[in-house]
Amino acid sequence: MKIGYRRMAKGLASLAILAIGAAFCFSALFPWLSKGVLPTTVLLLTTVITLLVCRTVSAEPSTQYKLADIENARENVKQYEWARDIVDEWKASTASVMAKSRSEIDELIPDLTPGTHYGQNCPHCVGKQSLMGNGQFDWDAERPDEIACASCEMVFPNKEYPETGVLECPKLGQRFTYYETKEELENPEKRNEHALKWLGDQPTMTSFTGHIRDRKVDWARSQCLTLAKLYAITEEPAYAERVVWILDRFASVYPNYLYHSYDGSVADLDPAKVAENMGKIEAEGGSRGGRFPKETVRHAYGLHQFENHSELFNGFWGAGRMSVHGKGSDAGPIFYLAVAYDLIRDAEDGSGNRILDGDAEQRILEDLILAGCRDMEHWVSLSNKGTAVYGLSATVGILRNEPERVHRAWELFQRMLAERYHHDGFYSESPGYSAHNFSNVREAADLLHGYSDPEGYEPEDGRRFENVDMYTGGRFNLSLQSLMRQLAPGRMMPVIGDTLVNAHADILSAEVLACRAGGDFVDLLEIVQDAPLSEKGSEYALWYRPPNLTPTGSAELPLNSEWFPGWHVGVLRGGRAKDNALYLNGNEHNWTVQTGHRQQDILSMCYWAYGKEMATDRGYFSGSGQLLPDGRGGQVWTKSSLSHNLVVVDEEEQATRESGSNLELFGIAPGVEVMQASGHNAYPQCEEYRRTLVIVNAPGGASYVVDLFRVKGGKIHQYNFHSDGIPGGHESLGLQPAEVSETWGKWLERPQSILPEGTTTLTWDNEGVNLELTLMNEADRVILADAPGWRLGTPEELAKPPVRQVLVEYRAEEGAPLATQFASLIAPYEAEASPIRSARMLVNDTESGVVALEVKLEGRTDYIISTKDQEVREYGPVSAGGEFALVSVDAEGKAIQGYLIKGTTLKCGELEIALPAANTTVKVASTEGKTWVLDEELDEHEELIGNYAIVGNGPVTGFQIESATGKSVSVRDYPALPCDSIEILRSEWVGE
Ligand SMILES: [Zn+2]
Repeated sequence: MKIGYRRMAKGLASLAILAIGAAFCFSALFPWLSKGVLPTTVLLLTTVITLLVCRTVSAEPSTQYKLADIENARENVKQYEWARDIVDEWKASTASVMAKSRSEIDELIPDLTPGTHYGQNCPHCVGKQSLMGNGQFDWDAERPDEIACASCEMVFPNKEYPETGVLECPKLGQRFTYYETKEELENPEKRNEHALKWLGDQPTMTSFTGHIRDRKVDWARSQCLTLAKLYAITEEPAYAERVVWILDRFASVYPNYLYHSYDGSVADLDPAKVAENMGKIEAEGGSRGGRFPKETVRHAYGLHQFENHSELFNGFWGAGRMSVHGKGSDAGPIFYLAVAYDLIRDAEDGSGNRILDGDAEQRILEDLILAGCRDMEHWVSLSNKGTAVYGLSATVGILRNEPERVHRAWELFQRMLAERYHHDGFYSESPGYSAHNFSNVREAADLLHGYSDPEGYEPEDGRRFENVDMYTGGRFNLSLQSLMRQLAPGRMMPVIGDTLVNAHADILSAEVLACRAGGDFVDLLEIVQDAPLSEKGSEYALWYRPPNLTPTGSAELPLNSEWFPGWHVGVLRGGRAKDNALYLNGNEHNWTVQTGHRQQDILSMCYWAYGKEMATDRGYFSGSGQLLPDGRGGQVWTKSSLSHNLVVVDEEEQATRESGSNLELFGIAPGVEVMQASGHNAYPQCEEYRRTLVIVNAPGGASYVVDLFRVKGGKIHQYNFHSDGIPGGHESLGLQPAEVSETWGKWLERPQSILPEGTTTLTWDNEGVNLELTLMNEADRVILADAPGWRLGTPEELAKPPVRQVLVEYRAEEGAPLATQFASLIAPYEAEASPIRSARMLVNDTESGVVALEVKLEGRTDYIISTKDQEVREYGPVSAGGEFALVSVDAEGKAIQGYLIKGTTLKCGELEIALPAANTTVKVASTEGKTWVLDEELDEHEELIGNYAIVGNGPVTGFQIESATGKSVSVRDYPALPCDSIEILRSEWVGE
């Protein structure tokens, strides 16, 4: 195969090694000086030699796309249509830039600092067709000096909306113009009030010209990398030539680009100093936005001025020279430009002359790539945006033969895994943000994978890198798997925490596992992408998927009924395994790791059946405080305890400091699955806050859910439930107009109430799948009201009809403590009628904590028993001693199945389960990988396989046992948690 990249620069690499080698030889000659202090002369000599040779060490691409990756891509292009489509798409998307001359490109990339697209508004349609702070605009390289509103198509700049305002940066001599509303111009003393607003309600500079510069810079940056990739694949010099033009132009304007924020602030100071200041102040625990003299940070409406200083709003998180948010602000763009440089640095024109001349290369490296990298390395952050810096450090480290930078990237990557991921690989924020953080940090993993330190390099901590493996085993591998293990039916992300509704499985994580780790992951990729490898591939596949990669044909998606031991979320997939999923969101807040993007939803429930979302978590409205047209914050509702399927206590939000859940029961049997957890500090006024969720299989392939929720403490208990479906026949229940408190009244409309007698049954139609909710409690009242139907902050979504929200309410009597045991049945069905014929409470005793239900199905009666002890009690025909039991009796009264967990006895007629103990506790001597080595002999170990081992003192969690011997217990899928002892839950199922 013909490869255009020559290997001419090896000589330079040897020189660099010589330089470092010389330094070490020198220090060897003066051993008394080698303990950390080299003589100044040696340092100087080393520096001089290193500077001479540290331009680049090799002419062949060595960062994101190495020579082998390029060869791989070319082979994929040869063999596969999907690969050719990617390259064709690149060609089509660069047609416009290929038609431009160098001077046109120079003109397009502005001298003046770009503005922002974030939180901008269209003055023509804001409040009508677009939401305040969420204007969406189109920009086209063919008409680069205008933007058009995506909602009303109005084009800007526009005489009707002139940019009359001016923001001056006198020290560095830049000025920015912006639009002012008519009201603002007429009431100059109240201009902040009348200005268009950013996210929330702060006034912002609406600058069409700034927005256009931002789009131009973003476009040129993105074209630059695409052109470089095209050069790598095709070796056509014309592509490399444009890359050089763009890089050189950026190198000349970047030094003058000022730090500016997504809220329109600009720092009127040398940008390198701004970066240093922000990094320093944030590292000291101060503001993200640094600490600058007053008026150094300029804002069109005078924001961010404090008594003695000014701050650049939101620091690196929301400010940059080139880009203000997204992929690590400037980290992403500079990284892409560095990779583009790497791909073309040795390109030659048709006559064999190098396209990139020495002066231009010097500018690109010093004024753009290094300057940007130095700035961004001031931001030492494990946040889901800050992680984008690691890839930049690694790239520059490799390009410049500066292994310290590569080590820095690796160390921060490891810290991120330890501090921002749970021990089971789940990200500490949300499913949506797990995919987001991965998208920001994934290049760092690619860069580090296979990396070896240069010969002779001796890192300070003595840890040399040789062929680093980032993907086999370990927490990063688990994190990629977690994005599959958690999936809801239809390969959708479960809507938990700040996760957008209708988010599909993250195909990239599956692709990376398939390409890098192979084996069964190859099969999983085919399932997740829903197409054979030969027919579909992402850009990642183009570079990294071996052309001959083939699935084994046997693996399936790892969708199990399980408790995720670090994330503290449980999922039952019983009933129709392929399209059912019932999640118990145990959750936590700042208990074991730093958590963000979680919601006040400890012990909330969400449920999919027959492939449809039946009981919903509302999802993620917006991460930026965006307001509804009426001024309420949409995210306030979607994250609130009040909008989740859980028990709200005293009409308050759950706590968000050091709170979470402890796992108590987890059991899986052929006809029934159960999980139980209790809240820790969720409502500090409650001594008990415990939920038990059960899926019971019913005849004819149906199933139903039993939901028990025990609450003790507080004065008001409201069991909260809602479904997105259309309510059916609720009007026939004798609804009366009702009042709700101001807290609820802020979000619920048309409240009506029922005074229940016996059970109350409500139904919904979810696009052809019915849902029946049977409330077993004779509560003080049941409220039905309209709750917001929207789940996202878009005008179309806001137009959706409301959903029906149910509150089952108990209020404490004067002076008496309140204890409630809620019980409900949730039955989905596609058939004519619900699988449940009738149901009643047999026992509901808050004193002992016993709840027992009788559920009548077609030809079968189920007895469901939940207690907090092992005392033997009678329930109809059943005698049970244990914390959870189920017995099914046929029409003739014969027991046909029985299940017992954490108990010793269950009897019904001839059916009998007798266990020697409710659980088995054994001491642990040591923990190695997935195995606990025991300190005492484990009896009957074979019977314990498949059961859950409960561990930890808080959070208490659990692992499913995969294998056991008399001396050890090994768990499935995750590293076992080190502990002193484990409690193995005993359980047994008998049935036909
Ligand atoms: Zn508009």
